[in-house]
Amino acid sequence: GSVLDGLTAQPADPLLALIGLFRDDPRPGKIDMGVGVYRDAGGKTPVMAAVKAAEAFLLKDQQTKSYLGPEGDARFAELLTPIAFGEIDRTRLCGVQTPGGTGALRLGAELLARGRAGTRVLVGTPTWPNHVPLMEAAGLQIVPFKHFDVATQTLRFEETLAAIKAATPGDVILLHGCCHNPTGADYTVEQWNILAPLIAERGLLPFVDLAYQGLGNGLDADALGLRAVVAHNPQVLVAYSCDKNFGLYRERVGALFVVSDTAAVIQSNLLALARANWSMPPDHGAAIVRTILDSPELTASWRAELDAMRLRILSVREGAAALDPALATLTQQTGMFSMLPLSPEQIRTLREVHAVYMAGSGRINVAGLTPDAIPAFAAAVAAVR
Ligand code: PMP
Repeated sequence: GSVLDGLTAQPADPLLALIGLFRDDPRPGKIDMGVGVYRDAGGKTPVMAAVKAAEAFLLKDQQTKSYLGPEGDARFAELLTPIAFGEIDRTRLCGVQTPGGTGALRLGAELLARGRAGTRVLVGTPTWPNHVPLMEAAGLQIVPFKHFDVATQTLRFEETLAAIKAATPGDVILLHGCCHNPTGADYTVEQWNILAPLIAERGLLPFVDLAYQGLGNGLDADALGLRAVVAHNPQVLVAYSCDKNFGLYRERVGALFVVSDTAAVIQSNLLALARANWSMPPDHGAAIVRTILDSPELTASWRAELDAMRLRILSVREGAAALDPALATLTQQTGMFSMLPLSPEQIRTLREVHAVYMAGSGRINVAGLTPDAIPAFAAAVAAVR
């Protein structure tokens, strides 16, 4: 028979099924906190003004769509560098444009597997559900540790330190740079300043996933963890996504950066891996980001709109927390996501009885709440408790 006959059906993405259920729900006050995209106070995921302006400019000004190369838009990566890293010795930095943060994670994982087959990666749980299959598909071995206790809503810092101390030199540790998905539980600056040198002391290789810079405490504040890691460690991988902070989701805009004394050798491997995967990344989204960051006016507009998005997320967190002490922990968490301590039964009742939609894990996208939906959400959660 055909090779393809050996395949078995795979489960659908449960979050995509939730989108369908929500769309088909006729109830007027229905609330969608499932999908992981930013929404404004009107419930829309808008195209940012700076993005529209950059697209208009590109439409008018772009002279060719000829190939760039496996590194993608080099100016894009160059302009992103100070935003992510602040001041950095560029001779120790290499990087390529990738199809989204996902492409950056995958390219980084393949680089690690190429360096040493079966490399172990410490991953704090719960984490973004795609981290594990992505790393495993690249041939890496996942070593889980507990990042966050959902029932008590506490970050397990001691368990993180214990996992680092128990690791073998040469292991990799995956870290969420900011706005942890799905828990919103980020390390404090003090904790980063303990973690970063300990990782170096233990001979581990940090891999920072920075997918939400600017949506937590601000562009610079959200990069302090990454910068502490870079300050203390000789080698660092960074998977960067522009899909959330530029609202470019479907354009798939990201970059993989590697800090190392061997940057030239690493860059040659990144180019070889990129060629074997997608040859070259899609251009349009990165061209938009490059156009914005090359223009002081568009950069100012982007920063202001991003800050307004961040402040709206903060106001939803504060608004919900003020309505019910049981939601008070929302203000200790950062970014779009938190994970509520709800049973599958409670999550189903919230959906079926109260028309409040969230992931089956209890993850909520707080940006899914318009201001007028906050009381309804708080009342629904109180009703199922
Ligand atoms: N890392 C994390 C933690 C994420 O939440 C996401 C997106 N959900 C990504 C990476 C991938 O982002 P992108 O859409 O740019 O591939």
